[in-house]
Order: sequence, then structure tokens, then C-alpha cells
Amino acid sequence: MSSVDFASLGISAPVLKAVQQLGYEQPSPVQEASIPILLEGKNLLGTAQTGTGKTAAFALPFLSMLDEKQKTPQILVLTPTRELAIQVAEAFQSYAKHIKGFHVLPIYGGADIGGQLRGLKRGAQVVVGTPGRMLDHLRRRSLDLSNIKGLILDEADEMLRMGFIDDVETILAKTPPECQRALFSATMPPAIKRVADKYLGDAEVVSIQNKTKTVERIAQSHLMVKGHQKMDALTRILDVEQFDGMIIFVRTKSSTLEIAEKLEARGFSSAALNGDLTQTLRERTINRLKKGQLDIVVATDVAARGLDVERISHVINYDVPYDNESYVHRIGRTGRAGREGKAIMFVTQKEIRMLRSIEKSTRQPISSFNLPSNEEVSGQRIAQFKEQLVGMCKSTKLDKFHSLVKEVAAENDIDMVLLAAALAFEAQKERPLFPKMVAIDTPRASASDRNERKPRERSERPDRNERSERSDRSDRSQRPDRAPKPPRDKGPTVDGEGNEVAMVTYRIEVGRNDDVSPKNIVGAIANEAEIDAQFIGHIKLHDDYSTVDLPEGMPKELFDHLYKVRVCQKPLKISVDNGTAGEQRDAKPAYKGKRDKPAFNKEKPAFKGKPKAHRGSDSAPRKPSKRPASDRK
Ligand code: AMP
Repeated sequence: MSSVDFASLGISAPVLKAVQQLGYEQPSPVQEASIPILLEGKNLLGTAQTGTGKTAAFALPFLSMLDEKQKTPQILVLTPTRELAIQVAEAFQSYAKHIKGFHVLPIYGGADIGGQLRGLKRGAQVVVGTPGRMLDHLRRRSLDLSNIKGLILDEADEMLRMGFIDDVETILAKTPPECQRALFSATMPPAIKRVADKYLGDAEVVSIQNKTKTVERIAQSHLMVKGHQKMDALTRILDVEQFDGMIIFVRTKSSTLEIAEKLEARGFSSAALNGDLTQTLRERTINRLKKGQLDIVVATDVAARGLDVERISHVINYDVPYDNESYVHRIGRTGRAGREGKAIMFVTQKEIRMLRSIEKSTRQPISSFNLPSNEEVSGQRIAQFKEQLVGMCKSTKLDKFHSLVKEVAAENDIDMVLLAAALAFEAQKERPLFPKMVAIDTPRASASDRNERKPRERSERPDRNERSERSDRSDRSQRPDRAPKPPRDKGPTVDGEGNEVAMVTYRIEVGRNDDVSPKNIVGAIANEAEIDAQFIGHIKLHDDYSTVDLPEGMPKELFDHLYKVRVCQKPLKISVDNGTAGEQRDAKPAYKGKRDKPAFNKEKPAFKGKPKAHRGSDSAPRKPSKRPASDRK
């Protein structure tokens, strides 16, 4: 990372304010290189993958140049998938927080087109979408490209791979020739180069080259994990790893505070280290780490620059680094003074390319790491507990307690061993010796992820249905053209704190015969109910209806709204599934059972992204925390 800050890059005041509030300390390399080019109005061809901060690299400068008064689309972003469209739209929204009257609209297939038509009519300065649906809107003349000033192709190689490149070209050809263009791609296959040559002219090239650097004496591994499971995974690792000092790297200042606080609540002595702290405070924290008064420091790259503490035995890359340079710098905080070190990196599915690129440039494999099992965590806790007990028997003055225990045993005629067991049970309550932890699904990066996938030949180009299936959420669904399989045991749905979310199965009156796909259902429910897609559970398609699992406690207004929502031209007519699959229901359901049960807790709403949760994970604090977990975020 360099020493340039966002303010000196020239982004507008409201955008700078939003970035600072998000806790971004410094531009990532791709941002530092791209933002000035785009602010100068030049076209840009960038080689960057997910995890490098590429979204902000184009969103910040284009937002800085936005004409607030013009309500027709000014910025158009093309993405290969629905998920990315939503993510990019959310990123724009958060960076434009202080721009008055700002609207961004994601448009993608599978979702109710009515809402998108209304959104476009109301006016949106930024439109983010998948090529197919954009073409659809262009045909309907609901999307006006005549005033587009900036066009971004995000993950261009993915669009090529998914067979969208012709659609992309059709859209590109419809944008004003003078509009500024940026193309980001993890790789630059010839077909993408050709599109770039044709539509971007002599664009400035930004390529974050990974210099080869090797690191020795550091055992490196990675863990595939979903974003919301990172905290649970970290706790489990801390439980079993024998570490001396540890540094945990995250991306934002706010994350340093949040994670350090959560670790403290779980009984680990930890502190945050970020650029907001004064030099004196930073030095004090580092000194405490050196002296062993502190074991864990949660830091941003900027704050940990040059940190040299011999006792750091472990580095955890909680958030992936922006590039290889930063990875090598981070893990170099361990293995100091000839000691051995260990580096663990959390990788989400979409960051696999980043992992492979680091492996390539360090010329070292980063092996996959298996999360400690319940038994291992239990074994470790038991070993520590025994050690603690034996130590206490040897070193503590227990005279009075000795007599007290004898007295209780004699008065109640209780066997001493039974009494000791009862005391042990009481003592382990906050940190259970036999924990039942939430299953953490840790898919491994598949072998095929290692190889760069070849672009599809034209003859292999999938038809539109196939394409929408491909970008589908196949992990939670069944393909409409296959016989229904029994529900896959995908483990409990958990919220951001790793707490299990109670689910209810609902029936909706659209099915295979209506040509519905799970993607349509997820899109409609996520949009209309504002339920974070992660909380939409198992979907099962039948011929004339489907079932979908949603968090317990749906408010009546929402239920009534969903009842009328249309998917594939048909109203959902949602009802609580009573298990009599195949039978036709009464027309309007009363959401029975849910109303007499106070299932929906207004303090912890299940919907709008905060599902009602019950604690299912073993995240019981070692020290009682002052506030409930849900407040600590
Ligand atoms: P992207 O590569 O665009 O998918 O971004 C990956 C993640 O990095 C997102 O969660 C961003 O919020 C975060 N991010 C992007 N730029 C920065 C920055 N300069 N400082 C901290 N976090 C960032």
C-alpha cells in the first residue's frame, strides 16, 4: 500500500465523506491507479479481480462527476450476474450516501420487471444490471441511454465466459460515442481485448502486477468460508491453535474495532490498531503486545506497517489482502527473528482468484485448512480446563473451600466425585467443554478453480434460459428440468453473528409448469420483502407450486404484500406450508399460527436483513459481555 490518501486523489467532498465513514483508510493499489485516470475523463482498461477494491475504483470517480440534477441514467454498469449487480448497486448507494436525491437501480433477470419499470420511470442516475435484462429494457424503451456519461463493464471475462459478449456489444453500440468507458476484467482473453480496442480506443491501462516474492519459514493455509461465518471460524481457530502473539488483518478501521470488541467479549485479550489512533496510542498497543499484556491485535494494513514483534506466531488474514505485495507484507509480521510462523487466510468463494494469484506470485501453495471440529475444540478446552484445575489445586490457598465442600458432602450425603462434577459443570458454563457449534460449511476451492476457464466457443453459446440457470443459486435449488431431490441438508441458516435462524416453510403457487426457476423466486422475495438473500432458505420446485424456507416471524403486512407479488405472471399466493404437498390450498391464507405466537420480535426483526435468531453457536463469552450480542455490531 502507498501513502496516498483518498483526499489527495481528487474525489468529491460528499463521496470522500462517505468513504471516510465506511472506515476506508487508504486507497487500494487499483484505486490509487484508476481514480485519477477516470477523474480526468479518460477511458480505462483495468486488470483486477474481486477483492482488489475495483468497485470503488470506478464508483468513486464516476460518482464524483455525477450531475445531481439529471435524473435519467448517467452511469451504466454491466455485470455478469444478479449477485454482482446487487453488490455493485449497494456499493454505489453507500458511496453516494451524502449525494442528495441519488438513486441507483439494479436490474437483472428473474426479478419482477414491474418494480424495475417503476424504478426507471421514477429516475435513477446509476443503473447496474445484467446484459440480458438491460437489452430487455432497451427493447421496451424503458431504459434511456441517450444521456449516459459513464459506462463500466465489470468482470468482462465472466460475461464472455457466460456467453453474454454479443449482448454486451449490442448495449455498447447503443451508448453515446462520447461517453467515458471503463472495462475491468481479471484476465484479458483476445475477445475482451477486441471489445476494448473497438469501444475503448486508446484507453489507459491499469494492471496491478504481482511481483514475485517468496516467504519462507511461514506455514501458510487458507480456509474457504462464507463472509458471515468468519467470526465463528476465527473463534474456533483461536480455541485450538497454540499461539503466542497474533495479528488479525482486516480492511476497515470499523472492522478493527468490531472484531477486537467481539474477541474481548469471548475472553481473548485483544485490541484494535488503526490509523485513527494517535502515534502514542499505537505505540502503547504494540508495546503491550510485545510484553505479552495483550495477545491479539486486529489491524489494518496501514496501521501495521513496519510492525516488528517477535512473539507474533500467527497472522490471520480475516479479509483477503488487496494484492500479493500486501499479502507478503502482512504475513511477514510473523516468522520474525528466525522463528517459525503461521499464516491463515479466510477466502470467500468469490475471492478464489485472489488466492490463486497470490499462490502464483509467491510460487508457494497455500494449502486448505480444515476448521477444527467440535471434538477438537472440546478436546482443547478440556485439556486447558484440566491444566487450570490442577494448577489451582497446587497454587491456590483452598483451606476454607476444602472445609466448605466437605461440609456440603457430609450434610447431604453426596459423593465427593459427584460434587466435584457439579462444580466443574458450573465452572464451564460460559465456555462449554462439550460445545455444540453451528455447522460451518467450508467448501473447498475446486480443482477447476485452479485452471483459468477457457471462454466458450460461439457454437457453445448457451440459450437465454440456460444462461439464467447458470447464474442461478444452484446450491439452494433444484433445476426445473430435473426430478426433485430430497432437501439437501445444508445445515442451519445462521445470521451474521453465527446464530441459528429459525425457518418456516412456505408454499407459493408458481411451479415448474409456469417455467419458474429458483432464481426468479429468490429475486422476487429478496426484492419485495427486502430479505437479505442469505436468509432465503431451501427452495423446492413442484409442477404447479413450490416451497421456500423463510425466517420465522414474517410480519403480517409483509405476508400480505408477498401474497400479491407476481412471478412469471402469477401471484405468489404465499401460504404457510402444512406439508400436504400437492393439495390445493384455500385462496387467501390467514398466516395462522404465526399471529397467535409472538414469533416476530420487533426489537430483533427477522426481516430487513435482521432475522430473528436464537443462539445456536458456541459463541458464549468467557467473560459476560455487557451488551447482548445483537447490540454489539
Ligand atoms: P471489491 O474488490 O470491489 O469486490 O471490494 C472488496 C471489498 O473491499 C469490499 O468489501 C469493499 O468494501 C472493500 N474495500 C474496497 N476498497 C477499500 C479500501 N480502500 N479500504 C478498505 N476496504 C475497501
